[in-house]
Amino acid sequence: MKKKSINIKAFHAEYKKKKKVLGPFIKNIHRRKIKGLRTLVNSSSDAVWKEIDCTRCANCCKQMTPTFTATDIKRVSTYLNMNRQEFIAKYLEKDEEGKEWINKKRPCQFLGNDNLCTIYEVRPYDCKGFPHLRHTRWLDQRQVFETNMEYCPATLKMIEMMYEMITGNSVIHK
Ligand code: SF4
Ligand code: SF4
Repeated sequence: MKKKSINIKAFHAEYKKKKKVLGPFIKNIHRRKIKGLRTLVNSSSDAVWKEIDCTRCANCCKQMTPTFTATDIKRVSTYLNMNRQEFIAKYLEKDEEGKEWINKKRPCQFLGNDNLCTIYEVRPYDCKGFPHLRHTRWLDQRQVFETNMEYCPATLKMIEMMYEMITGNSVIHK
């Protein structure tokens, strides 16, 4: 299947339409008895990545921020020939809880005009795994998925597929 370009405006409209059903579904998914959860997760994640090409989206890089671990900061700053302090002062700030380093601005300063990451080979660990659709503790990620599906077309698609497989219903006919 040829991967399609992602129209972010249309995606936001789709999210608004589906969140009333998918929000409560993912929030409470741990209360359901689900047979073969891992198989459902893997098959829906595979199906999502057959359709979605992140290089035609980059919405996470535009509207969200990764967290930077100490190792990320060291690796990326070295790559950019900067020292740790310079790198932090130029690009980062603490999150609201004062715990994690995050980007000062959005879109991410490392996103190129071609929608590609300019530090791809040394990008933060958080970016490498995002959106964590096959997370090993999948049910524990439910709140993260609920947040991410507002920004990430792959996550919205995955949660919708899970909904349809588990309930046997279609989201839009609900
Ligand atoms: S570091 Fe790269 S992959 Fe991560 S948010 Fe920035 S542009 Fe996107
Ligand atoms: S991870 Fe999600 S938001 Fe980021 S580029 Fe891929 S589909 Fe878009």
